[in-house]
Amino acid sequence: MAREYPLERVRDIGIIAHIDAGKTTVSERILFYTGVSHKIGEVHEGEAIMDWMEQEQERGITITSAATTCFWKPTYSQDKKDEHRINIIDTPGHVDFTVEVERSLRVLDGGVVVFDGVAGVEPQSETVWRQADKYNIPRICFINKLDRTGASWEFSYKSIHERLSPNAIAVQLPLGLEANHEGSVDLLAQKAYKFEGERGEKVVETEIPANMAEDVKKHRANLIEKIVENDDAMMEAYLEGKEPPLDELKRALRAATIAYKVIPVYCGTALKNKGVQLLLDGVIDYLPSPLDVPPVEGTKPDSEDVITREAKDDVSFSALAFKLQNDPFVGQLTYFRVYSGVLTSGSYIYNSTKDTKERVGRILRMHSNSREEVKEVFTGEIGAIVGLKGTTTGDTLCDPENPIVLERIVFPEPVVDLKIEPKTKADQERMGLALKRLSDEDPTFKIHTDKDTLETIISGMGELHLEVLVDRMKREFKVEANIGQPQVAYKETIRSEAQGEGKYIKQSGGKGQYGHCKIKVEPNESGAGFEFVNEIKGGAIPQEFITPVEKGIKEALDRGVIAGYPMVDVRARLYDGTFHDVDSSESAFKIAGSMALRDAAQKANPVILEPIMRVEVIVPTDFMGEITGDLNSKRGRIESMEDRLNLKVIDAKVPLSEMFGYVTRLRSMTEGRGSYTMEFDAFEEMPKNISQELIAKKQ
Ligand code: GDP
Repeated sequence: MAREYPLERVRDIGIIAHIDAGKTTVSERILFYTGVSHKIGEVHEGEAIMDWMEQEQERGITITSAATTCFWKPTYSQDKKDEHRINIIDTPGHVDFTVEVERSLRVLDGGVVVFDGVAGVEPQSETVWRQADKYNIPRICFINKLDRTGASWEFSYKSIHERLSPNAIAVQLPLGLEANHEGSVDLLAQKAYKFEGERGEKVVETEIPANMAEDVKKHRANLIEKIVENDDAMMEAYLEGKEPPLDELKRALRAATIAYKVIPVYCGTALKNKGVQLLLDGVIDYLPSPLDVPPVEGTKPDSEDVITREAKDDVSFSALAFKLQNDPFVGQLTYFRVYSGVLTSGSYIYNSTKDTKERVGRILRMHSNSREEVKEVFTGEIGAIVGLKGTTTGDTLCDPENPIVLERIVFPEPVVDLKIEPKTKADQERMGLALKRLSDEDPTFKIHTDKDTLETIISGMGELHLEVLVDRMKREFKVEANIGQPQVAYKETIRSEAQGEGKYIKQSGGKGQYGHCKIKVEPNESGAGFEFVNEIKGGAIPQEFITPVEKGIKEALDRGVIAGYPMVDVRARLYDGTFHDVDSSESAFKIAGSMALRDAAQKANPVILEPIMRVEVIVPTDFMGEITGDLNSKRGRIESMEDRLNLKVIDAKVPLSEMFGYVTRLRSMTEGRGSYTMEFDAFEEMPKNISQELIAKKQ
């Protein structure tokens, strides 16, 4: 089968927004206008189509990223040859779901950033913007909700300019605001459009109101200057007083947007059905196709050499699994984006991250409310494989004959722990399965058993993150459980080198036990995790006992030597040991490995690490002193203070342990007028006096 849409007519995009800016409503309208959805469901009625998980509808926030395919012919050309395929990768707006945002950003080529036309840029808009910057994602903006009372296009546009990027530039002006908002003026084409029909499905050209002429002229000149700035030839002509023709201006704007030098700004109201079709035109006109982004990079398995794969159907297959989702009808779905080559159902693929082979059964393409079974998925496309067993989020899937490991998605270590206890025996069994599934889906959600109390502990990126997962466990897997109080997930590490020895010898009766090893430990780079180096020479320890030593060391790392927190970022070198012809066994060497690690770690200046959060507090100026004083008393470091209209914005880094219950505290300190957001920044060494208190409490 041949591909239906040439690659240049494919768009892989995400809709990125602060919660409540209207991402869900915009997505729905897109699906409606693209003809996939034939019924418009309002979010407040709980009929959202993208939010197909029950719970997301109740919370009104989008948590998981599903990928949905739709088709669009631009309003200015209904020719079939101009029809594009748009794959929308849903991204969540809450910072507790950073991973969801990051993994979706990783696989999309362009973004539509939605803003609330009353509030303009909000704290979390900045967070997601910065995340998109990390991946250099070309984007267009949509100032939504211009129908709301208090809507201000000027204010919102200015806030994008000042707080996000000076390269944001209006390509439209609104026709009226609040109840009078009717449509928009296309600045380049100098045409005005209204949206008529019950659902605004008719895009109708109208006169530019006379009183807007000045504004249109001014903003149009700004836009054209911005475009020609990025194109030397055009600049020259422009300086000579020649305005380039419309199609050339559009071409240059496309190039500048893709290069992330310019960010076109659209406007409208999704809820009242105005502007979404023109925004879709913008997706096609200005956001990149898979051909416009650099070829994907990766390495050969077992090597550091970087290799690239071009976005072409006739080269070896490579793809990234970016999302696992449990579907009530077909079971486990693995969403993937193809970077090169073609995936065919029934073929074998290689998971180069896990070093396993898998057979591809059914492949689906998801539309908003239906699914289509496909035989092949081509380069640049997104699909979902049914029933893949050993693949988790972030894994590379590729041609077994020509393997590649694509750049990994780096997931942060979880920072909050929660004790969880099943209510009945039946719940216990289901809970195990549920937790496994959920942690396969989400690499920042981890599970472990406390070795002392045998309690199950789940760990995640924030209180809300865990709350949502526990909720899903109850709903999707029908597990009832008691939940403890959230606790900080501390870690331990070492600060210097040391040697350690482990000797496990037992000779009383029957077959004895003999394992003996010597290791050196040293700090590994922050975030690099555990690394094991085998430096045994001359068979001091036989080959078959090396892995058991490594396993023993790994196990010992689960319980740090200071207070039993997991130890991270340690490199261990096994350099010597002895063995016994008869008594040596794998288990004896495993125990010896554990003993050696504990011995060495104790001498290697062990410390406790605590998660530090990046906190942004926004308060009226009057409360500034009290808030900064309070943050200082919480061991916070104030990084910056800025004015934002009549408010103060305080950026600080504060240990997570000091931030539990901050919502209530901030509320009472500011008479309910302050707000804050928080996200994980880094693990840092805990001051000695504080860690001593912590250790004392644990004992
Ligand atoms: P999300 O959290 O970003 O997905 O935002 P939603 O799409 O769920 O929208 C949040 C709320 O704003 C809902 O109550 C929507 O009905 C409402 N909303 C979305 N778009 C508009 C709009 O253009 N105008 C108005 N007045 N309300 C809107």
